[in-house]
Amino acid sequence: MITVEHLSKRYGDVLAVDDLSFKIEDGHIYGFLGPNGAGKSTTLNIITGCLAATSGEIKIDGHDIYEEEKEAKKLIGYLPEIPPLYVDQTPREYLKFVAEAKGVKKADIETEIDRVLEETHITEMQNRLIKHLSKGYRQRVGISQALIGNPSVIILDEPTVGLDPMQIIEIRSLIAELGKKHTVILSSHILSEIQAICEKVLIIYKGRLVAFDDIESLGKTMASGNEIDIISSGNPDQTIEVLEKLSSVESYNQNQSADGFSSFRLTVKSGDVYETCKGIFMTFAANNIPLVKLNPIQTTLEDIFIELTSSEKEEGINEEIESIEEADENIMPEQEAR
Ligand code: ADP
Ligand code: MG
Repeated sequence: MITVEHLSKRYGDVLAVDDLSFKIEDGHIYGFLGPNGAGKSTTLNIITGCLAATSGEIKIDGHDIYEEEKEAKKLIGYLPEIPPLYVDQTPREYLKFVAEAKGVKKADIETEIDRVLEETHITEMQNRLIKHLSKGYRQRVGISQALIGNPSVIILDEPTVGLDPMQIIEIRSLIAELGKKHTVILSSHILSEIQAICEKVLIIYKGRLVAFDDIESLGKTMASGNEIDIISSGNPDQTIEVLEKLSSVESYNQNQSADGFSSFRLTVKSGDVYETCKGIFMTFAANNIPLVKLNPIQTTLEDIFIELTSSEKEEGINEEIESIEEADENIMPEQEAR
C-alpha cells in the first residue's frame, strides 16, 4: 500500500503539486489522469524517490521513502516518462546492469533477466542492440527494467506516448497482464486509455486531486443528463403520441429521420436509466410500434473530466492569489536523487 499525505512540490514559484493526499491499495490498476502540466510526472518522481518533495509524507508499505529509502524503493518498479535506456546495449546487457544496480543477488541475476524478458515478451529480442528495436519494443525493455526484482508496485508514466496504434494496443494489453500480478499505477492524459485499462482513477488537475473513484461509480455519480436515443418504426406523429404517454420522459427532440423511421433524443427523469428503458420498450410494444434502437447515452470519463475541471476553473482566481502569497515562504533546498 502507498500512502501519500499532504504532498506538495514547488519549482521556484510554480506550485506543481498542491497538497495531494491519497492511498493506493494493493492489487488494482490505478489510472493517474490529468492534462499535460497537471503534476503527474512530478508526483510519480516523488513517490518513487527520484525527486525530493517540498513537503509531505510518502510511505510504501509503511516505509518512508526518504527515511527508509532502500526498503521503500525495493517495493516499486518505475518506468519514467523518459525511459533511462542505454541504446548501445542489448536488452540483456542493459537488464544485467539494472539488476546489479538494484542489488539482485549475483546468483539470481540470469534467471531474473529471463523472467522479465518473458513477462514483457521480448525474449527473442534480448540480443539485439536497443537502438535497433522499434519504439514499442524499446518501451517493453523499459517496462522489463521496472520489473527487475519483482516489486509489488509498478508505476508507468505515460508509457504509450509516441507509439503507433498497434504498439499502443500491445502495450495496453501487457499492462493489463501486469495488473494480475502487481499493483499498477498508470499515468496518462488520455481518458480513453484509463477507461480501457484501469479499475480506479485519480484525476489530478493543477497539482490537486479533483477526483478519486472506481471508473464505474465515477460515471454513475457524475451522470450528467439522463438521455436516451431511440429510433421507432412509426412516423414522427405516431412516435410522439406514445412518448406523450410516458411519464418518465421529460422532453424529446426529433433527429433526422428516414425511410419511415423516426429518431428522437429523450431527456428522462433521473433514476435507473435501464428501468426507464424497459418502460419505454414495453409502452412502444403495447402500441404496436417496435423500437429498432434504444440507447441510453453513457457518461464518458471525458464528460466527467470536463465537468470536474470546469468547476475548478471557477474557484481558480482566489487560489491563484493564495499561491502567490505562499510563494513568499521559504523553499526547501532540492535534493534530486537522479
Ligand atoms: P505532467 O506530468 O502532468 O504533465 P509535470 O509534473 O511534468 O506535469 O509538471 C507539473 C508542472 O511543473 C508544470 O507546470 C511544469 O511546467 C512544472 N515543472 C515540471 N518540472 C519542472 C522543473 N524541473 N522545473 C520547473 N518547473 C517544472
Ligand atoms: Mg508527465
